[in-house]
Amino acid sequence: MPRPRKSAESKPERPARPQKPPAQKSPRKPEFSPTRLKTFLACPMMYRLEYVERLGRFYHRARAGYAFGSTLHQTLQNFHESGGSEAVSAEQLVERLEADWQSQGYRDAAHEQAHKEAAVRILATYHAAAAERVDTTRTFLTEKMLKWDLGPFLLTGRIDRVDEHTADGALEIVDYKSGRLDVTEEDVRGTLAMSIYQLLVKRHWPDRRVFATIHALRGGVTASASYGDEELAALEEDVRGLGLLILETDFQAVRPVPLPHVCPDCDFLPLCTRAWKREGRNYLGELGLPG
Ligand code: SF4
Repeated sequence: MPRPRKSAESKPERPARPQKPPAQKSPRKPEFSPTRLKTFLACPMMYRLEYVERLGRFYHRARAGYAFGSTLHQTLQNFHESGGSEAVSAEQLVERLEADWQSQGYRDAAHEQAHKEAAVRILATYHAAAAERVDTTRTFLTEKMLKWDLGPFLLTGRIDRVDEHTADGALEIVDYKSGRLDVTEEDVRGTLAMSIYQLLVKRHWPDRRVFATIHALRGGVTASASYGDEELAALEEDVRGLGLLILETDFQAVRPVPLPHVCPDCDFLPLCTRAWKREGRNYLGELGLPG
């Protein structure tokens, strides 16, 4: 005999569970690094293509300079994180280079070998200079991302290294420049990234004296500069204004404008050239470039 089917009505209804309201996530604030700010200042169209339309992966070319710098940064980061010259010999530092080496971007094997030999010389000089600082400094942090809330956005900066001076606790921001033979105090003062790094470190450790150093690795020389409190406050206001300007920019309305000092080295030049051609303009000719 078939069993009577239970009708849906006969099922006792469970009381509905009270639904939790979905957690309200506050939207993430935009973040502006020195590179982003510098890109906008150099060319708003470049900013649009890089950060709004995110087309960089299709246009960026592998460059030997980038691979060389990236390798040295990695090797020096490992060196300092492993205890510096007290724990790592010059020979071990060079061995580390082999493990970290990035091969992309070099024209051919000879080009790559020449860069490798240059890197070995750089590391030998670097190791000797690091050994001279052992009694006066200690590594405070390496490859650290610092952020500071400027209201509508966060100011960010990834710092190669900060050393603490044992005499007075001063914090020295050190930035490696792998392609440079020399550097001056004016270079340090005039570099937006170095100014922003000082601002970030000072805001995080306000009771410390803070100064910034560029280490020109190829020449084995350094130069330092320091911003006073008033200069940092003025910089903070300038950066806030620049960040607001970026946030308020209608990037869909931004068009490529030929910039003689920027376009020739810009990876987006083929893209902008097509836009200029569609407008029937010979901007490449105006820039003095073959087209
Ligand atoms: S090619 Fe010139 S206009 Fe185009 S994004 Fe680059 S710098 Fe800007």
